[in-house]
Amino acid sequence: MVEALPPARRGRRSPSARVHAETPRSYADPFAEDDDGANCIRCGYLVEPAREKRGLLTCAGCG
Ligand SMILES: [Zn+2]
Repeated sequence: MVEALPPARRGRRSPSARVHAETPRSYADPFAEDDDGANCIRCGYLVEPAREKRGLLTCAGCG
C-alpha cells in the first residue's frame, strides 16, 4: 500500500496570503495589441503605468 502523504511534504505553512492586491495583473502581454504595459527588466513583472510614464523600466518592487 502506498502512503498518501509523504512525511517530508507535510508543510504547515500556508501559501502567502499577502499578495499585491493593487496590481490587476502580474505582467504585461507583449503580444496583446490592447496591452501597452511594460514589464520590469529585473523581475519581469508589470511596471506600474505611473512609473512607466517616468521612463522607468523597473517595477516598484525593484525600484
Ligand atoms: Zn521588478
